[in-house]
Amino acid sequence: MRELGLTVNVSTVLFGASSAGRRRGRLAAACTGAALVALSGGYALGATMTFKAGCAEGDRITVAAVGDLLFHKKLQVQAYQKKGTFTRFWKPVEPLLKAADIAYGNLESPTAHGVSRRGRDVRDTGRRYGEVYSAELKPLLFNVHPSVIEELVQSGFDVLSTANNHAFDRGSLGVDRTIENLEKSEMPFTGTRRKGEDDRPWSVVTKAKGFAVAWLACTYAVNVLAKGSDQVLSCYRDKDQVIAEITSRVADRAVDAVILVPHWGAEDSHHVIQRQRALARAALEAGAAAVIGSHPHVVQGWEKHETEAGDEGLIVYSTGNFISNQRQLMQRAGIIALVELVKDNTGRARVSAAGYVPTWVVIDGNVNHRVIVNTGKSGWTRGALQKTNQLLPAGNHLTSGTDWPPVLPKECSAGE
Ligand SMILES: [Zn+2]
Repeated sequence: MRELGLTVNVSTVLFGASSAGRRRGRLAAACTGAALVALSGGYALGATMTFKAGCAEGDRITVAAVGDLLFHKKLQVQAYQKKGTFTRFWKPVEPLLKAADIAYGNLESPTAHGVSRRGRDVRDTGRRYGEVYSAELKPLLFNVHPSVIEELVQSGFDVLSTANNHAFDRGSLGVDRTIENLEKSEMPFTGTRRKGEDDRPWSVVTKAKGFAVAWLACTYAVNVLAKGSDQVLSCYRDKDQVIAEITSRVADRAVDAVILVPHWGAEDSHHVIQRQRALARAALEAGAAAVIGSHPHVVQGWEKHETEAGDEGLIVYSTGNFISNQRQLMQRAGIIALVELVKDNTGRARVSAAGYVPTWVVIDGNVNHRVIVNTGKSGWTRGALQKTNQLLPAGNHLTSGTDWPPVLPKECSAGE
């Protein structure tokens, strides 16, 4: 069994538990701990992840990526109150979102006006929880009032993913209306397209400080199998398209970096599955600078992968939940991943440093949910923080919270 852990390929730097053992069946289950220790051999738990471009000369930007925005019933009801807002949920971390050169999140819901739970065109109800805007359980079908988009813009979000398992919760019409509302607010998005809009690229380019970053979202599946589910990019079924789009954006001289933001992995599991690892590495080999995933509701490990071309790319397997009403310890503990990109004289941008700000969803009597920086002060938050720091390279934990610019760990060799 010890061997099992040791057979894991450590040619790339891995943090968090391995999936390789799990694929080998029941035997592996008991060996997860051993695999973790084996993986940390040479990369001790608590290690720091640095990049060889850390001190390279060139312009720099820092991207902030949060996890899933899941507006369960209790959150929507708060937002739709007389003076209610969505912004209130993430107010404590808003300075960081605003300061980041590009802030990204996964909008895990349609924002479709006048569409019923069955995906039909109906009279809109306005900001009210009910037939149009809801998050009813069994099956969990989301739809959030489009005013959330404008509030995300105001809070500093620059780009959203719409490719997730809830993308079709209001059917094809819901996808179209969501896009209509995103466009109305000039919020860039990636991963879905209107019915019949087959030529629209799945990715979107955002610009900041002279950098052009292409974002590409995909999802492992959608919950509602509707006609027109080709309106969302599938990570695995359409893997060739995912890679082709990365390749074409990388080849575009007007684009400095490509970031893949897949919606994938096993829910409530810290274990990375093989499909995730294979896609992430393929994306980096195709020239993506980083892969930042979400969906499992919990944080998953990081990986630094050196491509055959000699580039170092970053994989953040899951940033966890950003905001939700999920109650379990690790469902309330997400991260804001901060990724620094440097553009040298070749014109291509690479990851030069990374860090994470652990977050925690405070649930205060069902009326006052909010995302805070987890400083580990109380019992629950301390436990969550410890677990997060075990799963991730703890040396990349940014204790300064929302301070800007973030001090990201770097290791500079002599002469740089
Ligand atoms: Zn999801």
